[in-house]
Amino acid sequence: MARKIVAGNWKMNLNLNDAKALVQQVSQQNNREDVTVMMFPPALFVADVASEANGIKVGTQNFYFEEKGAFTGELAIDQIRSVGGEISLIGHSERRAIFAESDELLKRKVDAAVDADFDFIFCCGEPLEIREAGNQETYVKAQLEAALFHLPKDAFLKSVIAYEPVWAIGTGKTASSDQAEEMHAAIRSWIVEKYDATTAEKVSILYGGSCNENNARELFSCPNVDGGLIGGASLKADAFCAIIDSF
Ligand code: PEP
Repeated sequence: MARKIVAGNWKMNLNLNDAKALVQQVSQQNNREDVTVMMFPPALFVADVASEANGIKVGTQNFYFEEKGAFTGELAIDQIRSVGGEISLIGHSERRAIFAESDELLKRKVDAAVDADFDFIFCCGEPLEIREAGNQETYVKAQLEAALFHLPKDAFLKSVIAYEPVWAIGTGKTASSDQAEEMHAAIRSWIVEKYDATTAEKVSILYGGSCNENNARELFSCPNVDGGLIGGASLKADAFCAIIDSF
């Protein structure tokens, strides 16, 4: 059975004081042992957030695939680990669209994470024009095939997938539970095809895109939705904890 996960992507929000207050509040309020809670603060605050976190896995929104060297502005896995970061997002749609991260680059990041035995959430999802043309499954399958499905089964089993339709991220326009379930079921069926049914049952597939305390219950009740990657609603402790409690 796949782990239930609720992960907060803080993006480029909050200052150090806000970040510490948020992790302290969520640590105090959250008592769900059956849900893995994760936080992805700005990298600058990972050390502080990790040291305040109680029962929360803390990670980065991004990293670079090289181990070290002349890569100005980038972060290596070993550096993230050295300040308490345990996981990273890979391929968030904002990284793909604004920072032009290609499938090839994302594949190298996936491989670097696997080589370092470092956990990651691999993000995928279609833009609006692809959804409107009805090509969302072909598009998302291609993203997974390009940068994730090359992994051997043992390595793949450690991954978490986040399906985040780009048109729903930060827009207040959530995918309906039918739309989410349809894509999640498709992703699970591709895992069965590529690997096997046991593997497909074990990998968590999260939904992301304007998920909040009002719609999380319905989304999380879909059989193939194992949790959420939450942006805006992860910045307030009450809303984030209510989302965790939606299971
Ligand atoms: C995200 O950034 O991954 C996200 C889902 O954002 P929001 O919840 O704000 O749409």
